[in-house]
Amino acid sequence: STSRLSGRRVLVTGAGKGIGRETVRRLVADGAEVVALSRQASDLQSLAGETGCGTIAVDLANLEEAADAVTQALPFDCLVNNAGITSLQSALETSMAQFSAVLAVNTLAPLRLAQIVAGDLVRRGEGGAIVNLSSIAASVGLADHAAYCASKAALDALTRVLAVELGPHRIRTNSVNPTVTLTPMGQLAWSDPAKAGPMLARIPLGRFCEPGDVAGVISFLLSDDAAMLNGITINVDGGLLIS
Ligand code: NDP
Repeated sequence: STSRLSGRRVLVTGAGKGIGRETVRRLVADGAEVVALSRQASDLQSLAGETGCGTIAVDLANLEEAADAVTQALPFDCLVNNAGITSLQSALETSMAQFSAVLAVNTLAPLRLAQIVAGDLVRRGEGGAIVNLSSIAASVGLADHAAYCASKAALDALTRVLAVELGPHRIRTNSVNPTVTLTPMGQLAWSDPAKAGPMLARIPLGRFCEPGDVAGVISFLLSDDAAMLNGITINVDGGLLIS
């Protein structure tokens, strides 16, 4: 239904570009009131002009500044932890600083924002839903993605723990795990045909993911159609991982 999220107030992180931006469009179309969080004010201004969403311009790498900004924007019914970064090095060349920086945005920030949004829901006695943007990288080893794969596997673990702890409060937590999606991040890692070709050949549906393919699954997981889904990972991968 086109209004299945009406009455829900949703925070979407990393909303300036790519999957997050398409997710804001989709959630607004499905009736939600959306607040978009991202780094670049210009991205947020254009998105607000297009969709009427609220905006928070902050860098999640500055975690307590971001936490303060989100606390001031409460209450939310739903949280979409979409912001993510990657840093491409072989495992042997990955610096500890790069590894930590990827973990900070991809894993620590989702936990910190869940503490704020779900903590507030628990205090108010309201149910809600959290969706974490993970990746097939949580399940397979991808060359040059040591920090990224570790960050997403840890995020899936966090999804399961939050599902167990928050379920009794009627707050559902799930992961969405796409394959290669040709957003700005996807182009960074996969624009080389020598890398993209073999990956594409492994996908039974014969194409990479589109941002809209992911946004639709996020909308479903936030909605009452997913009322009994808690603690799962949905691979949005065209059959890659089962083939
Ligand atoms: P993009 O890099 O294309 O867009 C990410 C958005 O998040 C940008 O607007 C970016 O801002 C914002 N962002 C990044 N870091 C921060 C931060 N520290 N604070 C605030 N905002 C931030 O990524 P995608 O849309 O491709 O990815 C979205 C999610 O999906 C990520 O978690 C990613 O790991 C995951 N994913 C992506 C896949 C792909 O192939 N693209 C595959 C599987 C999962 P700015 O414009 O300033 O950089």
